Amino acid sequence: MQTELPRYQWPHNKTSAVWITVDVDAYSPLLWRNRHEPEMRFIAEFEQRQHGLRAGLYHLLDLFARHQLRITFFVPALIAERHPELIPNLARHHHEIGLHGYCHEAVRDITDEEFTKALEQSIKILTEQAGKLPKGFRSPGWEMTRHMLAELKRHKLYDSSLAGLDHPYTIEGITELPILWTREDTSRFKMTGLADRWPPSNPEAVLKEWIYDWRATAEQGGLFTLTLHDWIAGRPVQLSILDEFLNEVSKDQSVWITTGVEVDKHHTNQ
Ligand SMILES: [Zn+2]
Repeated sequence: MQTELPRYQWPHNKTSAVWITVDVDAYSPLLWRNRHEPEMRFIAEFEQRQHGLRAGLYHLLDLFARHQLRITFFVPALIAERHPELIPNLARHHHEIGLHGYCHEAVRDITDEEFTKALEQSIKILTEQAGKLPKGFRSPGWEMTRHMLAELKRHKLYDSSLAGLDHPYTIEGITELPILWTREDTSRFKMTGLADRWPPSNPEAVLKEWIYDWRATAEQGGLFTLTLHDWIAGRPVQLSILDEFLNEVSKDQSVWITTGVEVDKHHTNQ
């Protein structure tokens, strides 16, 4: 065993990286959960989730424009199909668009063949709408199988669903841009009813948590991936802590604030 862990090397004289991502799930996980129901009788969660496409995303796009930031949006293809203005709008703002399942299929509910079919269908839809092939994939619910990794390799995609290191790494021949459940907004703010297992966090505490975690990750030379959702992060107080977080990060010139496709390119070429 080596005695010292080598630091991950970043380009452009940077010593760490921050990657902001938004998963535009909207109501797709709800449709998946209710896929055997002929009609949706209870509409409260559906309505709550529509906030993202109606308003949240517009606020997020404004915020990213103010910070002159290009980020990565992972979009289930069904949402892109049902809202044909969505992907052209994200592309017009020069954001990266990545894959996130067809209907946010939970990995444990589907077979290998069903995964392959959903992946191919999603690549086709996103490519048609964005005018170029997507480069990145994020698994709905962050579960993964060997079959999925092999399929991602076959399509020359990077992945962002696993948490095996705090900087980019290679798994089964593809680039992994790691995530973490504590760097994600639903684990902190999602509340769709009183049956939810825990109360939402205090936004100020979450901001503090993100800043502590980002500083500690940067000190080690890692990649801090923040995962947000259209229907959670586009609400007023969540926008305000994101704004403060980005203000804090952008003060540090040693941080590379970038997109998944750029980190993948760097990781593959180094
Ligand atoms: Zn998702």
